[in-house]
Amino acid sequence: MSQIEANRMALVDEPGEADTLIINTCGFIDAAKEESVNTILEAVEMKKRGDIRQLYVAGCLSERYRSDLEKELPEVDRFFGVTDFKAIIETLGGSYKYELLGERHLSSPSHSAYLKISEGCDRPCSFCAIPIMRGGHVSTPLEKLVHEAKFLRELGTKELILIAQDTTYYGLDLYGERRLAQLLGELADVDGIEWIRLMYAYPSRFPLEALDVMRERENICRYIDIPLQHADDAMLKSMRRGITRRATEELLGEIRTHLPGAAIRTTFIVGYPGETDASFQALHDFVEEQEFDRLGVFLYSQEENTTADILGDPVPRAVKEERRDAIMELQSGISRRKNEARIGESMRVLCDRVEGDFVVARSEFDAPEVDNEVLIPLDDFSGAPPVGDFAEVTVTEATEYDLMASKRR
Ligand code: SF4
Repeated sequence: MSQIEANRMALVDEPGEADTLIINTCGFIDAAKEESVNTILEAVEMKKRGDIRQLYVAGCLSERYRSDLEKELPEVDRFFGVTDFKAIIETLGGSYKYELLGERHLSSPSHSAYLKISEGCDRPCSFCAIPIMRGGHVSTPLEKLVHEAKFLRELGTKELILIAQDTTYYGLDLYGERRLAQLLGELADVDGIEWIRLMYAYPSRFPLEALDVMRERENICRYIDIPLQHADDAMLKSMRRGITRRATEELLGEIRTHLPGAAIRTTFIVGYPGETDASFQALHDFVEEQEFDRLGVFLYSQEENTTADILGDPVPRAVKEERRDAIMELQSGISRRKNEARIGESMRVLCDRVEGDFVVARSEFDAPEVDNEVLIPLDDFSGAPPVGDFAEVTVTEATEYDLMASKRR
């Protein structure tokens, strides 16, 4: 988007206002593929009606299924893969500007921005098509990331959310060793960045020294997202996760010791081939014991060319849904108890937006989109809601997934 702007082409907010539409697709699991295809079909209709002149499709779905899509969707003018930025700009009639290192056009509100620290993945997870689409792990050099963080700060960013397919691998390809701890420390030094949040931390061979930096630096959130996928040893082995239940429990113990009070977010897959009632029960017991702060569940999606593909998809969808619902019901009780324990607590929140009569904010324990929100009555701010800024609040009420709070006077 920054390249498009530098070439004196305008970005617009509404598809109908555009001359050219570029759809960035996802090809990760069935639900994402379906959403991508439906979005392309809507755009094809717009092109047929003459609302837009050109239609391009880019991203993972296009990388993975380009030749099929070219046959099925001749109305699309051109398909691009995941790294074809230069080709996109040149097709639009511009020239790629290499000097725009680290410059970005933010599509998220500027106070909170994602920082992608590497691309691709070297792990062998059996169910996952991401390495097929995005290739092996390529870390972005540390100095480039610090430069990008400073650039984002200039745009008004206060919260940096570190993402990658696998953030704990950071540095191994580039420096021959894991450098997540150093990266966190150098980003924490960037003036004006008040929250740094770590997402997608793969559990196997977790760089424990990163936890020390997270504890020592005040502007790193007491929060970690660590996708565990399962807790039954046979499932973990078949999934090729490189970790056992015991080792996972030890790691969670280390996180809780090094980062007391931190919120731990995780995600699981249910209905993986061979998941018996007993292996699901092991997962259910694990969730009950560990009492995660935040949790999401995906239904297993069989993906072609992954190593799990040959196992088929024997668990019926209804059983997968039942298992997901059982875990989410268990988690909703855990989450409610944890939220209720916060009533009366004072906390600093980042105000994301105004919705109806409330300012919708987040605590350091919550990532945008996926986690809890803190709702504060708009009246508390006497007509001047601090959207994009921090506020000090006291928690007054709790539900399963959200908190109500009032502004501290
Ligand atoms: S670590 Fe994540 S992205 Fe990499 S193969 Fe495993 S699930 Fe896929």
